[in-house]
Amino acid sequence: MAESRRAHFPARLPGAAPQAAKAAPKPAATPAARGHGIDSEAVRARMVERLRALGGMEPAALAAMQAVPRHLFIEPALAAQAYLDNALPIGHGQTISKPSVVARCASVLLQALGARPARLLEIGTGCGYQAAVLSHIAGEVYSVERIRALHELARSNLRALRLANLRLLFGDGSGGVEAGAPYDAVLSAAAAEAPPAAWLAQLRPGGVLLAPIGQPQRLMAYRRQASGRIESWCVEDAHFVPLKSGLV
Ligand code: SAH
Repeated sequence: MAESRRAHFPARLPGAAPQAAKAAPKPAATPAARGHGIDSEAVRARMVERLRALGGMEPAALAAMQAVPRHLFIEPALAAQAYLDNALPIGHGQTISKPSVVARCASVLLQALGARPARLLEIGTGCGYQAAVLSHIAGEVYSVERIRALHELARSNLRALRLANLRLLFGDGSGGVEAGAPYDAVLSAAAAEAPPAAWLAQLRPGGVLLAPIGQPQRLMAYRRQASGRIESWCVEDAHFVPLKSGLV
């Protein structure tokens, strides 16, 4: 791990940018109306209804999807697509995950654990969107990213949300993150050929790893049993970017 930082956020209201002085002042925008001009509460509520209609989603996962403004994690030119079920480019050849994939992964973890995870590790922070969603369903979230520019982008995207239970780390997550282990859950946003041993080793007994694995990719779940034995099952087909090693 090259660097570890806790996300400390300034005591400032989200989106509280100074307003330009105007001759005829308009009423102050509500928080929901800020951010690329999107009435994001209402648009997000419609996205959540579409996610609920897919079936099998956990109420806590849907509440987290409602709470996090996805349009703040993508570039303004793509903001109109923020609440469609699309993966969108975030630079450096990477993408922000589809809302249905983020909601599905959060739901599968909640169902497999039977409770909210006290401590969760995300591999592949990207722009930080899924990390923000996970911070609403877990006690404490560690998220690691190997591309420094994306780690910095995530820090900047997340600052205004002031999520005190989220720790962002710059590093190669192939070896997990020893600092926070053992975890109730490990969730990878990048696909590996086989589950790295460290991800399984850093689970507490009863803990669950959810990761896209193999070629063709499958979203796989692995539970570490009290005996140390690993139980696994396939959740669904998957299409994630590949897990890579080293730092960029
Ligand atoms: N969680 C993101 C999805 C990011 S895409 C979201 O909210 O939408 C997957 C990310 O995994 C990419 O940013 C990629 O750089 C990162 N990644 C790939 N291999 C990695 C590794 N070994 N360690 C850490 N991050 C990795």
